[in-house]
Amino acid sequence: MRIVDLRSDTVTLPPPAMREAILRAPLGDDVYGEDPTVRALEELAAEITGKEAALLVTSGTMGNLVSILAHCGRGDEVILGDRSHTFLYEVGGIAALGGIHPHPVPNEPDGTIPLQRIEAAIRPEDIHFPRTRLICLENTHNRCWGAPLTPGYTAEVVSLARRHGLAVHLDGARIFNAAVSLGVEVRELVGGVDSVTFCLSKGLAAPVGSVICGERGFIEEARRVRKMVGGGMRQAGIIAACGIVALRTMVERLAEDHENAAALARGIADVDGLATEPERVRTNIVYFQLVRGDPGEFHRRARAGGVLFHRTGPRSFRLVTHYGIARPDVDYALSVLADAARHSV
Ligand SMILES: *Cc1c(COP(=O)(O)O)cnc(C)c1O
Repeated sequence: MRIVDLRSDTVTLPPPAMREAILRAPLGDDVYGEDPTVRALEELAAEITGKEAALLVTSGTMGNLVSILAHCGRGDEVILGDRSHTFLYEVGGIAALGGIHPHPVPNEPDGTIPLQRIEAAIRPEDIHFPRTRLICLENTHNRCWGAPLTPGYTAEVVSLARRHGLAVHLDGARIFNAAVSLGVEVRELVGGVDSVTFCLSKGLAAPVGSVICGERGFIEEARRVRKMVGGGMRQAGIIAACGIVALRTMVERLAEDHENAAALARGIADVDGLATEPERVRTNIVYFQLVRGDPGEFHRRARAGGVLFHRTGPRSFRLVTHYGIARPDVDYALSVLADAARHSV
């Protein structure tokens, strides 16, 4: 049966060039700093983000955890969006493992947190209060339709943070999608932030890995924390080799994923019984709703037709386009969704 897997861009399989790069990669023990391929990836990532140094970690979740642990001590507070991945989907790791207190503040539909809301959440010095240390942003914003945050907005948050002596961490799991969508360089999007994490294993199609970038001293601390949480890896050049191919060859093509997501949204808007807002789709994520009928039945029928995606609410669903999805897959998915909607009433 034909499968069109729109659950996530994490389902991408490595292209042949990555498999070949693994065979050629010079390797060493990276805990001793001796894996040349890991070093090459870290240098490339630092260059692309305009930061001094970088650190390979196993996942985006580990990247955010290690970054936040490196910024904060026990009992410190982090301001972050109430729809952020770190708050919703990272197993409460910063609290469980770091004793760090999350202070969620409502996100706007465009993924931003209004500056006044951030400022109001910053704790004044008071014996009753935890100390605010860090502000976290997310770009693109997963739960906010993959919305890209602009360099201007990010710079404003950074300058607010500076005024209050706080650091800024950017969860840039899909920062390359943001850069391609906005037509700007990644370094412009991460300009003033103290740390940024991005994923190699989503739209960039590498099998494993994320990278943290920041100042040299911060990355040294992050390297210690990574070891503490068991993330020190040995011949990780196997992973890094794919990451280098990802950064060199897989960024430009993200535009194709964005076009496919836009086509999905336009098609869904035309289906009787489904609703979405095509104008909100700026990158590779589409949310839509089943307006009437049984959502469980709709989801089952779509799956039976080979179209896979996540349910994200009582009547809402999410589609993510990626390297494994071409335009004919979009057309096929739309016909299956239309059929499922018609038969779920
Ligand atoms: C996927 C994702 C992560 C976590 O990445 P994993 O590699 O799955 O742990 C973090 N933040 C955002 C915004 C994500 O979409």
